[in-house]
Amino acid sequence: MTAPSYIGRFAPTPSGHLHFGSLVAALASYLDARSVGGRWLLRMEDLDPPREMPGAQAAILDALERYGFEWDGELVRQSERHEAYAHVLNRLFSMGLAYACTCSRKQLEGYNGIYPGFCRNAGHSMDNAAIRIRVPELEYAFTDRVQGEFRQHLGRDVGDFVIRRRDGLYAYQLAVVLDDAAQGVTDIVRGADLLDSTPRQLYLQELLGLSQPRYLHVPLIVQPDGHKLGKSYRSPPLTPEQATPLLLRALRALGQTTEQHLNDATPREVLDWGIAHWNAANIPRTLTLAEAQLR
Ligand code: GLU
Ligand code: ZN
Repeated sequence: MTAPSYIGRFAPTPSGHLHFGSLVAALASYLDARSVGGRWLLRMEDLDPPREMPGAQAAILDALERYGFEWDGELVRQSERHEAYAHVLNRLFSMGLAYACTCSRKQLEGYNGIYPGFCRNAGHSMDNAAIRIRVPELEYAFTDRVQGEFRQHLGRDVGDFVIRRRDGLYAYQLAVVLDDAAQGVTDIVRGADLLDSTPRQLYLQELLGLSQPRYLHVPLIVQPDGHKLGKSYRSPPLTPEQATPLLLRALRALGQTTEQHLNDATPREVLDWGIAHWNAANIPRTLTLAEAQLR
């Protein structure tokens, strides 16, 4: 059997409800997949139980359904993938590619979030320690389908990063790379806030011998003050009554055309229109879009 040529995914974090910014990301990844007859998977990124909002998982699934989205296969939850993460983590540790770090938050103050490497050669055991991956003094670059060329020097701009927290929780950077590979994802379409996580993910893919997906980062929808939409910035959950107008607004945010008659369409009809007319080349080539300016 030949591998499918397009597998996309939407990977929400259940720390809150979906909001308009999540809708824009979900819609872009959905339309990009369906317009080429690709598969579209759904993954719940529930790595961090303390930050999970009770009821958020069910609310996210409900909102996606009411907005007409249909995903392929079973929903995958990161909370059910710990064994796979542990396996890779142990391998990286035993090969010396990752190491244990016992630095306190206080010790790391004043380094602008770039780990100064104190524990690199300390030989700490894994117990009760964060696990960091050693990064090379190299620049990692890729060409994003919307944002163009993006490059980042891992040593200078990022430093050795955490793949398992001291409290035992796995880090997003590790989980996302393993999950996308395990699910055969070929195309990652997500918000531009993750553009600068991508070089770390490219490095992990290289280290683990995984193939590199294509990337498309859509503009992040922001508040007038430049902040990302989220629960702390009063962005309303996606209500079922608003499905058609918000889907149309999300389409326009993505630079796609809409027509008058769609105002009376069902969410499903709007999605079908979006699939038929999808043109990723029309997505604004910008990192952010102010919500207030979208209509
Ligand atoms: N779970 C991440 C979020 O909700 C998305 C991760 C990804 O698409 O790579 O921001
Ligand atoms: Zn340390």
